[in-house]
Amino acid sequence: MTISGLYDLLEVQKIDLEIDRLLDRRQSLPELAEYRKTHELIQTLEARHGEAAEQLRDLERQVDKAEGELSILEAKLQEHETRLFAGGMSGKETEYMRLEVESLRGQREAMETRVLSLLDQLDPAREEVAALQKQLDEAREELSRLDGIIRQEWKQIDAELTRKEERKKEALVPVPAHLVGLYEELRRTKEGVAIAAFEHGVCGGCHMSLSPSEREEAFSEELPRCVHCRRILVA
Ligand SMILES: [Zn+2]
Repeated sequence: MTISGLYDLLEVQKIDLEIDRLLDRRQSLPELAEYRKTHELIQTLEARHGEAAEQLRDLERQVDKAEGELSILEAKLQEHETRLFAGGMSGKETEYMRLEVESLRGQREAMETRVLSLLDQLDPAREEVAALQKQLDEAREELSRLDGIIRQEWKQIDAELTRKEERKKEALVPVPAHLVGLYEELRRTKEGVAIAAFEHGVCGGCHMSLSPSEREEAFSEELPRCVHCRRILVA
């Protein structure tokens, strides 16, 4: 084992930590959390808008139906009134027709009241649908704005990652294969830090001191390892 191989590996470690930081940043952009929140808001608003629109359609159907019934009643009333005023009926028939007309007038009044009450509900229902549509439009616009920012940020991060991967590949060239294997294995089990500088008697990986005898023991090995955390040490 040459010392230069370890220094090269320490450089690989430095690049790997930069890559880890970039990957972490890629997944934890503040805009990503906002994006998820806005996406949820849109789903909620879509559901509420769907319900409000359905209620509005139902109300419109009721208005149509009531107006239709009202015009039928009006036509019937007019027909009965015409016959009543035309005369030529028996007293009994006239009395019957008079009662019919009275009843139809009562029905017409009730239906007019119903139509008016339904029409009163139409405006607030339309306003609610419109207000929800406006909120939806705004939320969708916000989602698209966040999407643009995230894509831009990711593009920059990915370009940076490509450069770092390229540098890592170069830095790995002089490092022996078995050492790379050990390094990758230690990276997996030791929070991404496999090799650390040994400075002022302290391991740069676990930040614990090595006594002079521990230090001697560690550095008498072909591949110096921290006695506490087993990371590779470079003095
Ligand atoms: Zn250590």
